[in-house]
Amino acid sequence: MIVLWGKKTKILETYQDEDTICENCSSNSVSYFVYQDYYHIFFIPLFPILKYGGMYCSNCDNSHIHTINSKLSEYERRTRTPISMYSFPIIILIIIILNLLGVS
Ligand SMILES: [Zn+2]
Repeated sequence: MIVLWGKKTKILETYQDEDTICENCSSNSVSYFVYQDYYHIFFIPLFPILKYGGMYCSNCDNSHIHTINSKLSEYERRTRTPISMYSFPIIILIIIILNLLGVS
């Protein structure tokens, strides 16, 4: 049996921040992104691993990933990992519970 598994990245949240000035073009069209890496089996999320941030300027297409600054750290803290990141273990748990209850 072939098991499809691997690592994927999902954008959890996008934050428009008009207080941030782009270091490249000095425009205030900067967005912050919070990403989450996770492992999957058959494209069903198994568990999350790394959460990190990036920023993007829509005016000059300047972008940085794995950026470290205080504002981005705050956005990363504010963004919660969705429970859907644990879909595979939840499905397995439900199957086990249904089997224990004798439902099939
Ligand atoms: Zn820019």
